Amino acid sequence: MQELKDKIKQYGTVLPGNVLKVDAFLNHQVDPELMYHVGQEFAKHFAGRGITKIWTVESSGIAPAVMTGLAMHLPVIFARKHKSLTLNSDMYTADVYSYTKKTTNRISISKKYVDQNDKVLLIDDFLANGQAVEGMMEIADQAGIEVAGAGIVITKTFQPGANELRDKGVEVYSLAKVKSLDNGQVTFDTDD
Ligand code: 5GP
Repeated sequence: MQELKDKIKQYGTVLPGNVLKVDAFLNHQVDPELMYHVGQEFAKHFAGRGITKIWTVESSGIAPAVMTGLAMHLPVIFARKHKSLTLNSDMYTADVYSYTKKTTNRISISKKYVDQNDKVLLIDDFLANGQAVEGMMEIADQAGIEVAGAGIVITKTFQPGANELRDKGVEVYSLAKVKSLDNGQVTFDTDD
């Protein structure tokens, strides 16, 4: 998605540890017009697949997920993150190691908002090692519902998440694929 790549080029900065900082339009300040287009792009790609709900993880996945829900006329659920959580039978939970924060969070989704015949689209801002998406897949598994695929705003293809998810049979659709952040430079995959 050219508009997204232009924003990354213009505002993205590279932090140590292969972290791309995009606080100017996605992770702190949010560009609603860009997010609206992101939502339309995901909606177009995943149209006609019988998806019933959009899932994401708080907080950075919420903006693109809500815009996707708007474009697809579907409800959006964001898994909540907790440092620790006593087991609660009303919730589905999974443990997720955070790539950027180097801590493990428990994510949870209330059973109240999950139907037996749900088919969910997973949305997130970044895909690195795949932990966040795998956590949501684990919850879908516990609930016995189907995952339609994963829509990712920015995938770092030099990290293993995207390939690992594809190996598990999950379709990953990324709007920008970053193949390297070496020397502080953002390089995109040529097939982007
Ligand atoms: P994963 O679970 O795939 O290892 O990492 C995905 C999560 O970590 C995303 O939800 C995102 O919040 C965060 N993340 C991973 N890599 C980056 C990055 O390069 N930049 C930013 N801003 N967040 C990242």
